[in-house]
Amino acid sequence: MSAPNLLITGAQLWSPERSCATALAVTNGVVTAVGSDEEILALAVAETEHIQAAGAAVLPGFHDGHIHATAGGLALLGCNLDAAHSLEGYAGIIRNFALTNDSEWVVGSGWFGDVFTGGLPTRQLLDELVPDRPAVFTSHDAHGVWANTEALRRAGITRETADPAAGRIVRGEQGEPTGVLMDAAGELVSRLIPPHRPEDLRRGLLTAQQHLLSLGITAWHDALLGAYLTLPDSLPAYIETITEGSLRARVTGSMWWPPAAGPDCVPEILEKIQAAAEAGFKIRSVKIMQDGICENCTAALIEPYTGVHPEVRGDSVISPRHLADITAELDAAGLSIHFHGVGDRAVRECLDAVAHARRRNGPGQRHQIAHLDVVDPADIGRFAELEVTANLQPLWARNDQEVLERKFPLIGDSRARHHFPFGALRNAGAHLAMGSDWPVTSPDPLWGLHTACTRTAPAADHHAFNAESRTPAQPEERLSIDDAIRAYTLGSAEASGIAKETGSLQVGKLADLVVLTGPIANSESFDQVRVARTILGGETAYQRSQTAHRAEVPGRSGR
Ligand SMILES: [Zn+2]
Repeated sequence: MSAPNLLITGAQLWSPERSCATALAVTNGVVTAVGSDEEILALAVAETEHIQAAGAAVLPGFHDGHIHATAGGLALLGCNLDAAHSLEGYAGIIRNFALTNDSEWVVGSGWFGDVFTGGLPTRQLLDELVPDRPAVFTSHDAHGVWANTEALRRAGITRETADPAAGRIVRGEQGEPTGVLMDAAGELVSRLIPPHRPEDLRRGLLTAQQHLLSLGITAWHDALLGAYLTLPDSLPAYIETITEGSLRARVTGSMWWPPAAGPDCVPEILEKIQAAAEAGFKIRSVKIMQDGICENCTAALIEPYTGVHPEVRGDSVISPRHLADITAELDAAGLSIHFHGVGDRAVRECLDAVAHARRRNGPGQRHQIAHLDVVDPADIGRFAELEVTANLQPLWARNDQEVLERKFPLIGDSRARHHFPFGALRNAGAHLAMGSDWPVTSPDPLWGLHTACTRTAPAADHHAFNAESRTPAQPEERLSIDDAIRAYTLGSAEASGIAKETGSLQVGKLADLVVLTGPIANSESFDQVRVARTILGGETAYQRSQTAHRAEVPGRSGR
């Protein structure tokens, strides 16, 4: 065996190899030994680089199991409202961007409804900030588009315009558009915006990679390869960066299943996946959206929403019978399905579809359901039974104002009790993966781990401004530190099908790891440590500067 290039000693090491190990050796990008400081130091030669962790935690690199990286990078490069959580904050960012960019449209993203009186912004507010040209801002969850009067005028949206299918034009008392377009209605204006050029998408993806590496993320699963609402198709950018060698993180992704497509579209998807493989990006997964979100009653619930008339339960995007057939076909073709399931009925329909596939095809691919806002207690045990991964977005499991004021009144008390049932799923033996859904919410895994273990908002999260977000939400659903870290590393690697190569600090696996600034002593520690260094295949891919107080966000400029 050749001598190691890199040694790390004195670590609080998260390795399944040996529980008392404090050190590891890396040779040619691969972990070649795990042991005590003494054992590992004995392997050193003159050229070996040596990192002394001084008691700090060393974990496998984080693996974001559900993310929209290119959209996140574009948000960082564009007019990004995520940096603030107030009206004055938004106004400052928008004014400054409009002053320094002479683009035909002012385009941005990242607003939260609870910043505005009444829960939504208005076109008049945006007219004041951008009076001279069309301006359009997508909400942080990508379900709402805030437009100024000029943008509405160009789209021809008036009080006479009918709501499109699967979309809603928010209106005032006289029926006049107020400036917010929900879901598919957003496309009425977003289709007029000059599209991103291929080089913008490439730059967005590489900006995302730089940002994610600074947060300790060495692998991710792109949850949507295709175009959806205001998200551009990032597949060409992945192929380009893989081909030129600039995409260094371990990346997998799910091919988008068009919501209106029936089971007869399976061959078409297989062709697309084949074409991507020939171009260099191997895709093993398909994304199926089975419902929407609770906040606008598009999540599919078993029992009706509370306090909504007439009786509303939310639509299934795909009929359960078609969903079962599509799932069985894709499973038989060796593909894993990444379902979007928010409401308890959507979750049940996805589980039923997998059960159908298992009956028809026997044991096969591991499938997964992402989000899981509301799961009926009767379905919790089926995740383990059917080998379906619960793909959690842990940062969402807290009492934000938006959740308390908008979401819980709609789902009612009894369902709110089963909000994001992480603990119940874990106790029932479900396989767990984790991701951020960035740019919907922050991609910082330390924030996600904090909330997974405490069910409160991280101290530094400026989007949590109400006192309730600091008290535990459904505390019995907390996860242990070990379970949460496992889900955000190995669990996601297993769900993405790359656990043989990465995801844990084990001899023979890639040396993808993160060195933190201190140890993980308890669940509050996630709030107190930052990423000191990110190592990808044995090479330092990010190092925190001595003076940095928090992870750097790449600078903003026009796109
Ligand atoms: Zn998503």
